[in-house]
Amino acid sequence: MRADPIQRAIDEDLVRVLYAQDPIAFVSHWFSIVVLVAIYWAHMPSPHLFALCFGFYALANCGGLALWLWKRRHPDAVTPRTWVNLHALRGVLLYLAPGVSIWFAFQSQNTDLPLLHTVMLVTLAAGVFMSNGFDLLNFATAIPFLLLPAIALHFSEHTFDRTILAIVLAFFFCAINVYAVSYRKLFRRVVEARVDQQYLAESLAAQKLVAEEASLAKTRFFAAASHDLRQPLHAIGLLAASLNDGAAAPAQHAKTADHIVRNVEALNQLFNQVLDLARLESGVTQVIRLHFRLAELFERVGNQYRPQAAAKGLALRIAPTSMVAHGDPVLLERVLSNLLSNAVRYTEEGAIWMGLRRSGRRSGGYIEVRDSGIGIPLEEQERIFEEFYQVANPQRDARQGHGLGLPTVRRLVGLMGGELQVRSVPGRGSVFRFPVQAGDPDGIVSSLSDSAVGGASAEGRRVLCIDDDPSILEGLSSLLGRWGCIARGVPDEIQALRAVDEGFLPDAVLCDYQLANHRTGAEALSAVREALRHAGQPKVVTLLITGDMASPELEALAAQGIPVLHKPVTPARLRRTLESLWRQQGASSLQKVAAGNPDAAVPAGRDATVVGGHDYVP
Ligand code: ADP
Repeated sequence: MRADPIQRAIDEDLVRVLYAQDPIAFVSHWFSIVVLVAIYWAHMPSPHLFALCFGFYALANCGGLALWLWKRRHPDAVTPRTWVNLHALRGVLLYLAPGVSIWFAFQSQNTDLPLLHTVMLVTLAAGVFMSNGFDLLNFATAIPFLLLPAIALHFSEHTFDRTILAIVLAFFFCAINVYAVSYRKLFRRVVEARVDQQYLAESLAAQKLVAEEASLAKTRFFAAASHDLRQPLHAIGLLAASLNDGAAAPAQHAKTADHIVRNVEALNQLFNQVLDLARLESGVTQVIRLHFRLAELFERVGNQYRPQAAAKGLALRIAPTSMVAHGDPVLLERVLSNLLSNAVRYTEEGAIWMGLRRSGRRSGGYIEVRDSGIGIPLEEQERIFEEFYQVANPQRDARQGHGLGLPTVRRLVGLMGGELQVRSVPGRGSVFRFPVQAGDPDGIVSSLSDSAVGGASAEGRRVLCIDDDPSILEGLSSLLGRWGCIARGVPDEIQALRAVDEGFLPDAVLCDYQLANHRTGAEALSAVREALRHAGQPKVVTLLITGDMASPELEALAAQGIPVLHKPVTPARLRRTLESLWRQQGASSLQKVAAGNPDAAVPAGRDATVVGGHDYVP
């Protein structure tokens, strides 16, 4: 991932050092021109050719300076790599003239000229090594032009001393090439170390920023959460104390008890919202996709909010659609409920619209919830997705919500692989939308409606409860008793197996996740299920109840579709989950009967957990 940044950093550093040497190179080349012209002045061979060659040298040198000036003025005119390449091109032009001009020395009768020119070339080569050695291209476009003509001409003289000189020159040529290789490696390592350091410093700074923001967000979260939790607790405390007032009339007591219940419900609702969010964060919530009619879901959610909208004089319009969607109806219902409830809450006049926009997508479209309400200022449109953030509720009046709906909605949509988008204009209204996939009409399994499959009543059902906490067992047993169930509470797996042995064959087993003696509820449930299979009772609904938020085991259970409820579980939630699981078990039995396989056992896996697997039931 960092290969490219390193190459770019190397190019940037190369540009910096290559061009930094150019003013010195400019002066050195003028010096070289003057020295060479001075050497040849008295014995100038082929004057026209000589003038042409050195005129070209002088021009190339000025061209090099022009390039340097251009780069200085417009450093970002081209990419660093192009600056390096242009510098190499300048090298070819600049070193060509001094390199090939040694030919003039060999035309002269003066035998010192080739030696003097060679000394000049070696000096220039040393300069090239120092200034261009760390880049292969710039080195390779200079050194051969400087030295190879001289080596070839000395060799061609066929005298002993010139051959020796040619060999020494060739050796020098090879040596500086070898040194240049290590020079380049060293340069690369230095740049890599610098880039690493810079990268580390930047990522540390970014992490620090993230940590600071997270800490700030946490502080805000706890401040808001503790306020919103304290309010109903405080009220419950005061109301409970007033129950002690013996002088109060029974009617007054009933009213106080009613207030307490409502505050407990509010507390529970808030607690559940926080836990739902935490559960979404921890990854235990499953997405279970079904093919279903979108219109049915719209109707179902719409029906929940129609009375509230009507009470405020708002029209709730649901656009008809024939689309079969492929998605998780339970999660989608939760998303739409939140969006509709906000739309109703933040709209005083006009209408609310819910529907599907195809927007040219053959594979689906966008579900939109629009309102003509108060709208959301642009600068708040990102913040409304922060936990407990509300645009205009500084007093944190619980009747105006808690600011947890949209964070939950955004996570739910993300979990289903989409992105929640918002468009809003203050005073004109808001649009929330997210993508939905088209499904297969042949794949529709059943209606989403609760009443589609009957026979899920709790009355007369036998329920085995496994929990090592006696007070929970007692509470559960009395609750189940009130629903008409025949409940039996046991503290552990051994007692549960004994109950089955004694002939208590339950329709449902409720089990705590953490049991005594390091046993887990999952282990206990599979042992009880096995015992029930032997006892001829394969159809049993099993439900784990846990206070754990995110353990690998729970994630594995969620992935297998084993129903898990998270504490605190309200009686209503428990009942709805149980009834829903029984209903689905009944439906899958009916399907098996219809398929001519009445004896097949209902697996306590996916079929039975479509709703329970989400661990919250609407
Ligand atoms: P809550 O509605 O419980 O306060 P949400 O997380 O659902 O919490 O919304 C956060 C904030 O976003 C709300 O307090 C409100 O200011 C703003 N908001 C949400 N939906 C709408 C809407 N449809 N119109 C105007 N404002 C909205």
